Amino acid sequence: MKSVAIIGAGITGLTAAFYLKRKGVSVTVYEASGRVGGVIQSLRKDGYLAEFGPNTLLETSPKIGQLVRDAGLQSRRLDPDPSAEARYVVRYRRPVEMPAKPLGFFTTELFSLKAKLAVLREPFIKPRRDGVEESIAQFVVRRFNQEFLDHAIDALVAGIYAGDPYKLSVTHAFPKLKALEDNYGSMIKGQLLGGRERKKRGEVAKDRAPKFSFDEGLQVLPDVLATQLGDAVKLYTPVTRMLETDDHWTVHTQGVNGESCAKHGAVIFCGTASKLAELKIAYSQRPNVPLELSAFAEIRYPPVASVVLGFRREDVAHSCSGFGMLIPKIEGFKILGTIFSSSLFPNRAPAGHHTLTSYIGGERYPELASLPAEKLYEIVCEDLRVLLGVRGQPTFQHCVFYPHAIPQYNVGYGRFKDLMNVVEAQAPGFFLAGHYRDGVSLSDSILSGINVADRVAGILQPRMDTDKHG
Ligand SMILES: Cc1cc2nc3c(=O)[nH]c(=O)nc-3n(C[C@H](O)[C@H](O)[C@H](O)COP(=O)(O)OP(=O)(O)OC[C@H]3O[C@@H](n4cnc5c(N)ncnc54)[C@H](O)[C@@H]3O)c2cc1C
Repeated sequence: MKSVAIIGAGITGLTAAFYLKRKGVSVTVYEASGRVGGVIQSLRKDGYLAEFGPNTLLETSPKIGQLVRDAGLQSRRLDPDPSAEARYVVRYRRPVEMPAKPLGFFTTELFSLKAKLAVLREPFIKPRRDGVEESIAQFVVRRFNQEFLDHAIDALVAGIYAGDPYKLSVTHAFPKLKALEDNYGSMIKGQLLGGRERKKRGEVAKDRAPKFSFDEGLQVLPDVLATQLGDAVKLYTPVTRMLETDDHWTVHTQGVNGESCAKHGAVIFCGTASKLAELKIAYSQRPNVPLELSAFAEIRYPPVASVVLGFRREDVAHSCSGFGMLIPKIEGFKILGTIFSSSLFPNRAPAGHHTLTSYIGGERYPELASLPAEKLYEIVCEDLRVLLGVRGQPTFQHCVFYPHAIPQYNVGYGRFKDLMNVVEAQAPGFFLAGHYRDGVSLSDSILSGINVADRVAGILQPRMDTDKHG
């Protein structure tokens, strides 16, 4: 029976491997680093639980909950404290709670009367139908106004992509917003009318999807998937090149014991776009012309530093009850935002303490992300002093630097997506999946892993049957 090589033991690769194995397909997961989980990283230390990559997983589809049950993790699932729903956006240099109900929008101090009127006017703005791809900034200014962009969307974009609203494509980075305009002529009308259709499709909008984690953080999910895959997961084994001949892929790896190779019936690449650009792939259709992957190096991944600090509760003036705060650039702080991690999941800090997770860098200030740890702690403390009334020294401090954090689905990203389709068509049996193709969130990556497992099992099945009979 032909086996499948999976490149990358992040959540996409592990999910794909887990479901292929359950379908009876033999898998090998090659991971360049010495750990599984990719950007997911949880650390339990001194009574704190620090989460450096994603903090929560959104249940945007029933398939997410199914994975948790299939992995036997239902009893370890941790839902957030129901009182931690409040979200804050910084305005007038302090966190202002976002209105939870639509009527609250008219009384909030987050927006001026002019911005509120712009929202009321939005259903009457004509949809743009000339096919020109806009940035999210252009889209928001056209349908709402500049203030809405500067004080709300800019913060949201920093929270999701650590990105620049003037560069991110509304079509590729926020396809659901664009679809509201395309299908309903207005975002407000689409929000009101589209709920029933989403329900029919079994989808939940990201802003309404239940979010959760696990008792010991999100790292639990890749760890448990890897345990169930056992010896199939090969750490410290980067894939360097591949050759396709006679229905087989020969995958070359550079392990601790030098170079080696293995034959597989199909290969799924679940790494980052920048690493995809470095792969050398020869295929039977044109053996002397390697597959052209270098363009993927142009996909931008800005650097981000995640800084987790612990404080005594009496040293933080703000209640920190809620999910966290987003910070628009216009407010003049260096951090992009802060998650109130221990309000969200109480076991993230020792009794009487807060855990606060802040992000630095992204497209806004890329040069800050790589500063030495001590400097990062200083910057975060300085901003939190103003924003949350933090006093004294942190009781816990830890940070992780992501040199290539999140891919930017900027204007023109369609050319990379087209190229991914071309690559798969040119090299049958080679599949691309993960955050650089199917959406940047953790739930998008999981769904991408499930989807690619189905696609690969579909094409392997006839070959597996032939193998058995022939
Ligand atoms: C700081 C940060 C915060 C985030 N916060 C959230 C959040 O709160 N909510 C949310 O939904 N999402 C969040 N995300 C996004 C989400 O975590 C990721 O999109 C998702 O985890 C990506 O998973 P992946 O498996 O596709 O890729 P990755 O996690 O990047 O894994 C790819 C793996 O492939 C390996 N690899 C690459 N090349 C090779 C090779 N040639 N050979 C072998 N192995 C290779 C890498 O070593 C890596 O382990 C965040 C991301 C970051 C960086």
